[in-house]
Amino acid sequence: MSSQPRCPYCRQFVYLDALRCPNCSAELGFHIVTRQFYGLRQGRTEIEGQNWYACSNRDWACNWLVWENAPAGRCFSCRLTRRRPAADDTVALEKLAKTEEAKRRLLLQLGDLGLPIIPWDLEKGGLGFDLLSSLSDGKQVRIGHANGIITLDLAESLDDRREALRVRLGEPYRTMLGHLRHEVGHYYQNVLLSDESSWAQCRGLFGDERESYKDAIARHYKLGAPADWHVNFISEYATMHAWEDFAETFAHYLHITGTLQTAAVIGIHLDAAVSNLRDTDVEPLESYGREPIQRLLNDWEWMSQAFNRINRSMGFSDLYPFTLVEPVREKLAFIHDIVTRAPLSPQEQLAIAFRPAHEPT
Ligand SMILES: [Zn+2]
Ligand SMILES: [Zn+2]
Repeated sequence: MSSQPRCPYCRQFVYLDALRCPNCSAELGFHIVTRQFYGLRQGRTEIEGQNWYACSNRDWACNWLVWENAPAGRCFSCRLTRRRPAADDTVALEKLAKTEEAKRRLLLQLGDLGLPIIPWDLEKGGLGFDLLSSLSDGKQVRIGHANGIITLDLAESLDDRREALRVRLGEPYRTMLGHLRHEVGHYYQNVLLSDESSWAQCRGLFGDERESYKDAIARHYKLGAPADWHVNFISEYATMHAWEDFAETFAHYLHITGTLQTAAVIGIHLDAAVSNLRDTDVEPLESYGREPIQRLLNDWEWMSQAFNRINRSMGFSDLYPFTLVEPVREKLAFIHDIVTRAPLSPQEQLAIAFRPAHEPT
């Protein structure tokens, strides 16, 4: 469970990506077990009798700590990066730093939800990331997921490039975190749906994933989404294939729970009398793991409207430019069900994450 990240010395709030306290300049490292910042002295700190070190990618803005017994000198997040730009490609590495920040946020959220993360170097089909740039050697990097490995195009961390794509594809929202949340949805569909009855239920909601994906892509890029796509789907892209509908909806589950969690940690709540939104106050929760989906969707309906109003007051487009129609709510309910069915405790997650690498299986 996250709590407000603070500087251990002066108690100032610090953003998740901080390397130093903005108030007292202390050098900080983030400890994923306690979800807290610790002060670093000569690149190390002691936590509960054990040494934790700065990640070897700290020069590339990684602020996570590495356990002394962890394999290699990389933190858990950096270890999940299977491929990255070459060491001399500093332009691409700068973009990598930005994308790794989004990835660390994703991993913390997956942890908070109690989802298992089995690293790619421990098990075939485990989670890993190929973070490469289309700008590096002119070869187009295709965003996608295959057998646990998520590939992202770092060139998209350039705002003008991503924004141009967003406009061309007619998408209301396009971010690196959004890409990560979508692609990890593909990974968890295979991890969480383990029996035939779950798959049958899934097909009833999202369609048959055994239909040709190749044909679906060809059709989508030739004809686009059906005109009435919004009656059943969260986005145009979701109409392409059952795999994509699941991943798109999964990404929204992460958008919604992640944003409500942040609101809860800050202490934001809507006062019914003031907001004139409905009869009772809206108090977002850090975790909806034990709540019915209706509570989650209800809180989000009002909170997202509030956040949209905040954005508009700054001249931005809506924070959440989507409408959750009934069929989409049913799909989200299914995802809520499979995500919350058997959440792992932090100890269980760590046991998997820090299982020694290269262990004979
Ligand atoms: Zn401080
Ligand atoms: Zn790292």
